[in-house]
Amino acid sequence: MTAVLGPLGVRVERGPAVLAAADDGPSLAAHRATHGELPGVALTPLLADLERVGLRGRGGAGFPFGRKLETAAKGRGRPTVVVNLSEGEPASAKDATLAMVAPHLVLDGALAAARVLGAREVHVVVPEADLQVRAAVEQALGERPRDRVRHVVHRADESFVAGQVNAVLELMAGRPNRPVTAWEPAAVSGHRGRPTLVSNGETYAQLGLLVLRGVRDHLSRGTTDEPGTTLLTLHDDGGKRVVEVAFGTPWKALLDPASLDRPVLIGGYHGTWAEAGRLRELTVSRSGLAEADLTLGAGVVLVPDGCPLWFARSVTTYLAAQSAGRCGPCRNGLPAVAEAFTRVVDGVGGLAELERLCGLVERRGACAHPDGTARMVRSALARFPEEVQRHTRGGCSEGGRPRA
Ligand code: SF4
Repeated sequence: MTAVLGPLGVRVERGPAVLAAADDGPSLAAHRATHGELPGVALTPLLADLERVGLRGRGGAGFPFGRKLETAAKGRGRPTVVVNLSEGEPASAKDATLAMVAPHLVLDGALAAARVLGAREVHVVVPEADLQVRAAVEQALGERPRDRVRHVVHRADESFVAGQVNAVLELMAGRPNRPVTAWEPAAVSGHRGRPTLVSNGETYAQLGLLVLRGVRDHLSRGTTDEPGTTLLTLHDDGGKRVVEVAFGTPWKALLDPASLDRPVLIGGYHGTWAEAGRLRELTVSRSGLAEADLTLGAGVVLVPDGCPLWFARSVTTYLAAQSAGRCGPCRNGLPAVAEAFTRVVDGVGGLAELERLCGLVERRGACAHPDGTARMVRSALARFPEEVQRHTRGGCSEGGRPRA
């Protein structure tokens, strides 16, 4: 089955678990017909289940979700639950997809978390600029008057860093939706100083499915070490599509042969580059990718059509413009990195200067934006040394045309 999400232009394929009912419609009635009522759940058995399945956050950092939930449960004050659908990464479409095709799986996960934490509020952060997602969320929330929690919707700015957890907390506090320095994790002290469980849409959808279907169902997919499934946003010759795959699925089953033979940026704009052909031998696995010095991040996979350095340069220029401007190394350093990268790509500048500038921005920001940007730049330089040398001599294997 294939469903097309209208103007978003994203192809969504039915998946084995979270997207199993992707074409049944987003209504609560359709959701209940597939998954049934949300069963009662208590904190201790839920934490044990989360430990067994090893659920990690799907927003990019991959932090163990059970540990975050337990921290929030042990914190001082009544916890708050936040569903972060802001999806600042422009290449990612999985949370928008979930909001539109499976919103009640996400909201069931959030409700289960709220119940075990004793939370009275579930905050849902939607992208201001995405009218379809906003409408889908409003519609879904309108169908859930029996949840017995107060739903609060917030609209996030259209910015790469607007979805960062502290930027979300700032938005909820009525301040500019930008990251700030935080001295404690949100699960310890977040919204109004209370323990705050912030996770993205896919994480709550996975939690919802775990509560609805149980551990055995979750363990029936994936590998022994990494059970379950993950959502990916793939950009290749097949266009932009959101798929759900079991961990352990070979990349060669997901990408067409031509794409496998091209450089791939995996993990999104803060991700890492794989050389042409590198993914042929690898599977969708966080640990397997980490061994290959790659990161799955939020599950974005980009196969640019053209020179990877041109593409990496244009991503860097975009990321430099996304600095929230609070920290000097980020505000001034990232534009300098983008400029230096442009000089390297254009064959008129020094590679050493670019590497020096990357070193100056790393570990200097209040959030991970400078580090993620520098990681992507360094990865491009490390994975494509011959292309870099070609560019420093004024050449390009793609004839110098930025086709990406
Ligand atoms: S590192 Fe950059 S994006 Fe992050 S808080 Fe500082 S200025 Fe903002």
